Amino acid sequence: MTVKFAERLAVQQPVVYQTLKHALVQKKLAHAFLFVGQKGTPRLETALLLAQSLICSHVHEGFACEECDECRRVAEENYADLIVLDGASKSIKKDEILSLQERFNKTGLERSGQKVYILNNAENTTPEALNSLLKFLEEPQGSDTLAILIVENQDRILPTIVSRCQTLTFRPLTQRQIHQIALEEQLDETDGYLLSHLIRDVDQIKATAEDEAYQNGMLMMRRFIREFPVREEEVLVWMQTEYLGSKDKEKDKRTFGYFLDCLLQFFRDAAVGHTEGPAWMAEEVVKWNQRPLQLDRLIIVLLECRDKLSRSYNLPLLADQLIYQMKEGMIHE
Ligand SMILES: [Zn+2]
Repeated sequence: MTVKFAERLAVQQPVVYQTLKHALVQKKLAHAFLFVGQKGTPRLETALLLAQSLICSHVHEGFACEECDECRRVAEENYADLIVLDGASKSIKKDEILSLQERFNKTGLERSGQKVYILNNAENTTPEALNSLLKFLEEPQGSDTLAILIVENQDRILPTIVSRCQTLTFRPLTQRQIHQIALEEQLDETDGYLLSHLIRDVDQIKATAEDEAYQNGMLMMRRFIREFPVREEEVLVWMQTEYLGSKDKEKDKRTFGYFLDCLLQFFRDAAVGHTEGPAWMAEEVVKWNQRPLQLDRLIIVLLECRDKLSRSYNLPLLADQLIYQMKEGMIHE
């Protein structure tokens, strides 16, 4: 059975969850909310849950069932009395706010009569549109209209708008929470684990997992940890010819960057002798942890290499230096 979003929210964002639950149960919900939180925090999902909870006819302890036809249509943003405007790719304009206003001044189209509008990435709203929005927020709307503004940074929104909203702040997700969500969403175990250390947004993790540069970097790291201890002299050759020899130098550079990031995580785990990663990694972590080598030194070598790469170093030379320094780190105990 899939876990309901409200249950996940209770664990991930307890303050947001409790505040909303209390207001929903007491039926004392504000008419306008400002959701503040980094990208990757479940701000839009929470806004949709709040809309569902006002519309669903199977509410339990304040929250929607998330399963009925109406809940499903809200989640799919396919509900006539729900309008979602998004400033992600282009700014929200005045005419969009005006047409929203016009639609919401009429009687609701759906059975519940509840109307909800969500402005996602609301910091990207033109000044004229913000002015119209402000007027709309000032007008008495009655209890059948709810506004939810979603932003990353509260300082990017006019104080007069902030003062008309109840602000709820989403705390950033931890690496463990991101890893957990990645697993729940059926991402490959290796990708989910490694990328949760690099990126704090599950959608971005999914996109990166499909990126060829990441896949090559990750495969290069898997091969490296198997072969470096036994066939050290061959490593540089296959790295250069099979993974870093394409015509696209920028892509090769990104591949190498992902290789370094993945290997860094592996060494960090090997240094403590434990990983939350997949079974193959756990086996290798134990092996590397028991080898007589200086993992701390290898980690420093990798960090220095990462730093040089970001300053556009000559890639073949950088790979060559890395392997040389890693050999030194392997020899000295
Ligand atoms: Zn429902």
